[in-house]
Amino acid sequence: MMNRTDLLGMTTEELKAFAVELGEKPFRGKQLFKWISRGVRDFNMMTDFSLRFRSSLCECARVGSMEIIKTQVDKSDGTMKFLFGLEDGNAVEGVFMKYKYGNSMCISSQVGCRMGCAFCASGLDGLIRNLTAGEMLDQILLAEEAAGSPINHLVIMGTGEPFDNYDNLSRFLRIIHDENGRNLSFRNITVSTSGIVPAIEKFGAEFPQVNLAISLHRLTDEGRSMLMPVNRAYPLEQLLKAAGEHARITGRRVTFEYALIKGENDSDEDVNLIIRKLRGIMCHVNLIPLNAVKETGFDSSGRKRAAEIAKTLENNGIACTVRRELGAGIDGACGQLRLKTGAKNG
Ligand code: SAH
Ligand code: SF4
Repeated sequence: MMNRTDLLGMTTEELKAFAVELGEKPFRGKQLFKWISRGVRDFNMMTDFSLRFRSSLCECARVGSMEIIKTQVDKSDGTMKFLFGLEDGNAVEGVFMKYKYGNSMCISSQVGCRMGCAFCASGLDGLIRNLTAGEMLDQILLAEEAAGSPINHLVIMGTGEPFDNYDNLSRFLRIIHDENGRNLSFRNITVSTSGIVPAIEKFGAEFPQVNLAISLHRLTDEGRSMLMPVNRAYPLEQLLKAAGEHARITGRRVTFEYALIKGENDSDEDVNLIIRKLRGIMCHVNLIPLNAVKETGFDSSGRKRAAEIAKTLENNGIACTVRRELGAGIDGACGQLRLKTGAKNG
């Protein structure tokens, strides 16, 4: 029982090698990959395998290691927020959302985060550990099973800085995109970063079809550094240059996330800076009404101010949306459910 190999998070090639180790033909690994991608965890249900292969899988392998420990459902819009328990006692969150075009899921990439943004619940206790590719996948499989419906859009915008966990992120993306399994289009995936410039460059080269979102939140170096310490390492000029290059090379619009924080980044002057500094970058601004997190002391600018700012940006030629408040009735902000449950260190 103890040392069974977890097959979730393994690539087709690795599963082929695994099948061969168990005395099977390589194509059995591809079949395994297909079953696992569909969320089948019970080897006895893998009906195209011999009884012998099934029983050796039962003996030496398993699929995933997580469980849902808490679910919140917003009855008004069907949003489901999950707290996933990891095998080592840690917990992470994911949110399953219903849209007109299908289901979307927001997953976490780390337990905690070490970027230390001042308004964010996820970073309050720093980074505990990276999630594996299997743990990123399992958030999706468990949520789909609970919701009874598959996802076709994915955002990596839960707890954690995905580019601080680059190798697991890229393994995960290749697995979810693999045509033998989920075959999820890269165009339906968005990765959100706080702005680690070298990783943005690397990611653009390796995954040009995946959408990139950059958390901006302020457009003066002094102000942004106070909200987001990462700005000290990669200041705005470098970040905006990398964003512009990314859009140019990939031919895809970059999304800038801008959480509106009362009295911090929502003045007319701040809005003028957005207009001035983003001009010429192929982009889209997503205004996010801040989810107030008690521990951080910041407040939201409110939807009315958000709508005003959106209008000004649009009038000045900057494409802009105000994020729909999904799951307003449940603890919406990233890191909040985990915070509230106290399920931080097991
Ligand atoms: N670490 C990555 C992705 C996870 S955070 C990043 O920072 O981009 C996802 C988004 O939620 C980011 O834009 C982040 O700035 C924003 N966010 C964090 N705390 C928030 C809060 N309390 N209210 C609204 N948005 C928040
Ligand atoms: Fe980390 Fe993103 Fe939260 Fe910043 S906003 S602390 S980068 S999760």
